[in-house]
Amino acid sequence: MPYADPEAKRRYDAERYARNRKAVKERVAARLKDKLEEVREYRKKYRTANKDRLSQHDAARYQANREKRDAATKKWSARNPAARSEQRRRSKKKHPDSQRDYKKRRKARIRGAARVERFKAEEIYERDHWMCGICHKPILSGDESLDHVVPVSKGGEHTRSNVRAAHFVCNRNRGNRA
Ligand SMILES: [Zn+2]
Repeated sequence: MPYADPEAKRRYDAERYARNRKAVKERVAARLKDKLEEVREYRKKYRTANKDRLSQHDAARYQANREKRDAATKKWSARNPAARSEQRRRSKKKHPDSQRDYKKRRKARIRGAARVERFKAEEIYERDHWMCGICHKPILSGDESLDHVVPVSKGGEHTRSNVRAAHFVCNRNRGNRA
């Protein structure tokens, strides 16, 4: 059957593939079975060699599909409320730091911060070398907190440039004095 129309050929191939899908997959799997290690090695080498190109490609695709994906997620969440809350619960447990960072952003938003930036608290502690911006002494892990240089209540933003590492106690004693 000759195909003058490339679209008809494409359709024919797609239908044939759909019909034989299982058989094709099994055949390919059988052929690759002995070469599993070889294939794995090849893929690894390919990924390493094309690292930048691949990650750019992935990022572009992620951005391009963003709206579509968000809409699909929203739809799924509405249909599966129980599964969604279970997912949330597990995610909170798995990423306690992200949860804390999220709570800080939420609190700043509620208190009326004009700008809320997304960053990790850890990143600020590292940036400030775990030194307290208020008393200028080192901070031990467990005593750390994020201090807004200009307090949110005084119009300060929740941004990297307006936060610094501080002792929890120094931060609390400072209160909202600018
Ligand atoms: Zn301090």
